[in-house]
Amino acid sequence: MVKAIVGANWGDEGKGKITDMCAEKSDIVVRFQGGANAGHTIINEHGRFALHLLPSGVFHENITNIIANGVALDIDALRREIGEVESAGVKFTLRISDRAQVLLKHHILLDTYEEERLKDKKFGSTKSGIAPFFSDKYAKVGIQVWELYNKEMLLEKIKGMYEKINVTLKYLYNKPEIDYMQVYNKLLEDAEYIKDMVTDTSKLLREAIKEGKEILLEGQLGSLKDTDHGIYPYVTSSPTLAGYGSVGAGIPPYEIKEILAVTKAYSSAVGEGPFVCEYFGDEAEELRKRGGDKGEYGAKTGRPRRVGSFDTVATRYGVEIQGATQVCMTCLDVLSYLDTIKVCTGYELDGKIYKDFLTTDLLYKAKPVYEELPGWKTDIKGIKDYNDLPKEAKDYVDFVEKQIGVKISMVSNGPERSSILFRN
Ligand code: GDP
Repeated sequence: MVKAIVGANWGDEGKGKITDMCAEKSDIVVRFQGGANAGHTIINEHGRFALHLLPSGVFHENITNIIANGVALDIDALRREIGEVESAGVKFTLRISDRAQVLLKHHILLDTYEEERLKDKKFGSTKSGIAPFFSDKYAKVGIQVWELYNKEMLLEKIKGMYEKINVTLKYLYNKPEIDYMQVYNKLLEDAEYIKDMVTDTSKLLREAIKEGKEILLEGQLGSLKDTDHGIYPYVTSSPTLAGYGSVGAGIPPYEIKEILAVTKAYSSAVGEGPFVCEYFGDEAEELRKRGGDKGEYGAKTGRPRRVGSFDTVATRYGVEIQGATQVCMTCLDVLSYLDTIKVCTGYELDGKIYKDFLTTDLLYKAKPVYEELPGWKTDIKGIKDYNDLPKEAKDYVDFVEKQIGVKISMVSNGPERSSILFRN
């Protein structure tokens, strides 16, 4: 059975923890989109890890982890991450798709220079090279992993590629050119490093499905950062929806039977773009300080995350566009300090109340409509049974569930893997 775990919002919903928990029951965990531009935080008996590229199944020795064709494969980032995980004594199996594409040095440079050039119009990129990488992929000039093992073809391709890139570097950005031979030699070295992990992962997965294996598709970021359906252009450059799991992993769409969308008990977002229910000043600082396991600061960049109330309009859209079959709400414990809890239940625009998510221009103008629910004002960390939560906390979950229209089957009340409450 194939199950997908995806974000219902702007990312950082706590998917890493849920994936890590679900991975235990899986045979295979797959990254099918994105790249090393976001991070899952996983806390377990080996330590605290921010995984950017490695699938969350790496902490379970019996699981096969796959970096599938839909991923931007940054081999330097992968090496760093493998080093970190291995130095904590973790042993794992990793397979890399022969059709994944390789992220190159110029992708990171172009991402960085373009953000500098755009100044106050910048996208808030993590500068991991993702947008230039996917531009090259869809312009059909990217390099698939199998090409690394065809030396003559690779050299020819790299040479042609850098003729164009160097013009851009020199004349648009006024930056040093890149020596294509350096890139080529580095790629040969990288090819050697990943060689034993490279395989046809789509075939591996199709066979695993036939054998009845449990497969987990691990999404990165969230619905509202999806290239097509998110807050364009403040989105990421690869689809974040479970539906793309079929393309990004190379499996039949009808095999994705369960879609678990993760949402936080409040909102957080990184990068630019509209964020209707955003808090500012002390209200924001208080929530940011208390959020997540170490405050709301980006796992990849350390940047303070933007925070706000739970947004039922954005989240209902987020779970619907994911096709979620169930929802997990994380970080409920974070709200324990509040006397009353605001929930955004509509957007007000030109005197009208909207319940549907809007296009980016209108989101900028929309004002949040809040309902206030009573807080529970007691620490709920460590509670092991959903029924033992304070009534106000359960009412909060009921309220949100009704608004978003999909069953909240799990609630998380602490960063540790064990802090999960199942809700009947
Ligand atoms: P992801 O990208 O969706 O995996 O999200 P991140 O891992 O970057 O961000 C989620 C943050 O919330 C991490 O710091 C987690 O350790 C933390 N976290 C996850 N679930 C909970 C929870 O229930 N309570 C608290 N306090 N922190 C949580």
